[in-house]
Amino acid sequence: MRALPLILVSLLLFAWACPAPVDDPPATDGKALVAKYTPFTLTTDTALLSENQKAMIPLLIEAAEAMDEAFWIQAYGDKDALLGSIEDTDLRRFAEINYGPWDRLDDNKPFIEGVGEKPVGANLYPKDATKEELEAAAANDPAIKDLYTVVRRADDGSLKTIPYNEFFAAQIETAAAKIDEAAALADNAALKHYLELRAAAMRSNEYLDSDMAWMDMKDNQLDFVVGPIETYEERIFGAKASFEAYILVKDMEWSKRLAHYVGLLPGLQEGLPVPDEYKKEKPGSKSDLNAYDVVYYAGDCNAGSKTIAINLPNDERVQLEKGARRLQLKNAMRAKFEKILLPITGELLAPEQRGHVTFDAFFANTMFHEVAHGLGIKQTITDKGSVREALGNQASALEEGKADVLGLYMVTKLHEMGELGEADLMDYYVTFVGSIFRSIRFGQASAHGRANMVRFNYFKEQGAFLRDAETGQYRIDFVAMQKAVASLSEMILTIQGNGDYDAAAKLVTDYGTKGAELEADLERLDALGIPRDITFVQGREALGL
Ligand code: ZN
Repeated sequence: MRALPLILVSLLLFAWACPAPVDDPPATDGKALVAKYTPFTLTTDTALLSENQKAMIPLLIEAAEAMDEAFWIQAYGDKDALLGSIEDTDLRRFAEINYGPWDRLDDNKPFIEGVGEKPVGANLYPKDATKEELEAAAANDPAIKDLYTVVRRADDGSLKTIPYNEFFAAQIETAAAKIDEAAALADNAALKHYLELRAAAMRSNEYLDSDMAWMDMKDNQLDFVVGPIETYEERIFGAKASFEAYILVKDMEWSKRLAHYVGLLPGLQEGLPVPDEYKKEKPGSKSDLNAYDVVYYAGDCNAGSKTIAINLPNDERVQLEKGARRLQLKNAMRAKFEKILLPITGELLAPEQRGHVTFDAFFANTMFHEVAHGLGIKQTITDKGSVREALGNQASALEEGKADVLGLYMVTKLHEMGELGEADLMDYYVTFVGSIFRSIRFGQASAHGRANMVRFNYFKEQGAFLRDAETGQYRIDFVAMQKAVASLSEMILTIQGNGDYDAAAKLVTDYGTKGAELEADLERLDALGIPRDITFVQGREALGL
């Protein structure tokens, strides 16, 4: 061990010798931390399930629980030792929510005294291994960066890899055995085949065949996303897959409606408010988009902020051959709608318009956002190659912004065509504006957040809503907003078609800043204690199974 510099030694001695100063910062307030989250119960209409499906769900829950145990080890290490060491019940609960002693909604800030910073490699690499050392080792041994290995030190101090199916053998065997039991009960042949291959994948550490089989499931009502999947937990390479599980029940009714709407895309493409050359491509309708009730979250997807949509698989070999599936989690969206969006609009919208904020409109806007990604064009009309290449780091924000406004354009057209039933068109517009506040508040670093900021300022400039200076509340002007949606759609589709990087950057410069007024409005939301995210009450009891 290196000798400590003298100055540091004397500082340490000084700190040890002195009593704690009286104005010490207060101990971490566990109650306030837990209040960042609000609970929501995950259910589905079990009357729509067969007896076999009802018998499968408890087995899948047991498999999911094993994934939860495995993720705890990946994220932190010894769960029981950590939880057992925390006396404060709120802080202990907060550690459960975060799968460790670091606050995931606050840049992984530690909330338990003495734990230190979260290791950048989580518990997937040795804590003392630097990126340089790992890079050097990976040059000789590609398994260091493999999706499905843990890196540890051998007795001689060198780095070695242990495959997940060895390192997590106990959790994987529990999960695989339960998945096999569930597969035996599956009525749907494609689901049975996938579950069998998934259990085998976990035992062999080879996931490709099971990912392919997951893509082949088309008419199954029950679904199970399980295994090591996303790679956000370690921040050294983003190379290691985290264990998680979702148990899902497909909304057969919405799935039928979606297929119908996707069939209307060619006509909607023709009606886009932009010259013909910017809409000459045939709109995409291949991708598989469905709505689900999620009845169980475990592991990675249950840690901190909760996902309301799944887009898988990640394996590019599968994407090339079979595309991808997009799963919209309807009841999880309802959780965010009820617990977060309604309180936000209750504060920021004019009282007489709040009745237009509805879950049906929120869900429809989200679904049509997804479908609207298929409208417009993918190739520039100026020989600059694909829109994505031409717009570089501006591409994502512009594409998300496009999907938002064209989603609302679709809603408007379908409403005119009598496709949306009795609902008031104003519901979609008012709910849309409410969602802008929610997205600005939660995602400023993301493409979605930037797109929402631009749209807010553009709508404001166009008079789509007016802010009452006295109450700080917003009132939507339906006619002006319809015009603003059309002109913003035209602007974005034109920039994309031209592959005009400078114009895209200028849009963000001109419209991307949060003014003092909006800042103050958002601070009112914080002062009200509106939660940031959700925790789930879930399991057999919640489902009545
Ligand atoms: Zn999108």
